[in-house]
Amino acid sequence: MYLIFIGPPGVGKGTQAKRICDHFSIVHLSTGVILRDEISNNSPVGKSAKTFIDVGQLVPDDVLLKMMSGRLAQNDCNNGFCLDGFPRTITQAEGLERILTNLNQSLDAVVSIVADEEELINRLVLRGSTSGRTDDTPEIIRQRLRVYRRQTEPLIEFYEQQNLIKAVEGVGKITEITERILNTLV
Ligand code: ADP
Repeated sequence: MYLIFIGPPGVGKGTQAKRICDHFSIVHLSTGVILRDEISNNSPVGKSAKTFIDVGQLVPDDVLLKMMSGRLAQNDCNNGFCLDGFPRTITQAEGLERILTNLNQSLDAVVSIVADEEELINRLVLRGSTSGRTDDTPEIIRQRLRVYRRQTEPLIEFYEQQNLIKAVEGVGKITEITERILNTLV
């Protein structure tokens, strides 16, 4: 199973992506987690990424594509994966197509999780008080939502044209939302 999760910050895509990966025994790859690891290791990629993440901007496409093409070629991806936070731009989606073609793989579905903006801001502000993430402050959250609408939302249309989109409402109990997602994947 080769899946992508798309959704605005705070919609719960990380939580759901992880649960769906456990269900199918596939690898969960969150670019947010990978980038934050790079930052804590103080690697060159991490140092550069931090300057973008802290202001709510996307890390440049070439950095993400290089990082993910290396990661997706590793053996644990052979049985499938679930991408959480990648692709986030049309350029990244086109790059991903090339990567998958080279690996002889193709996507099964793109799960799009939706929720209204009010709900997202409330959740993120709450998370900010405990997550310790430098980008979970009200001002940066609003900036991330703007970036999502401008740069990432167009991917829904891109994948709609390939008939891959499975849209799921992201409000409700965690277990219920997982069930909704699984129901769209059968
Ligand atoms: P959220 O789901 O709350 O937006 P993530 O943990 O997925 O948070 O990502 C945090 C930050 O990492 C993003 O705001 C962005 O700066 C950077 N990032 C993650 N994935 C990508 C990507 N595919 N392209 C560019 N930047 C990314």
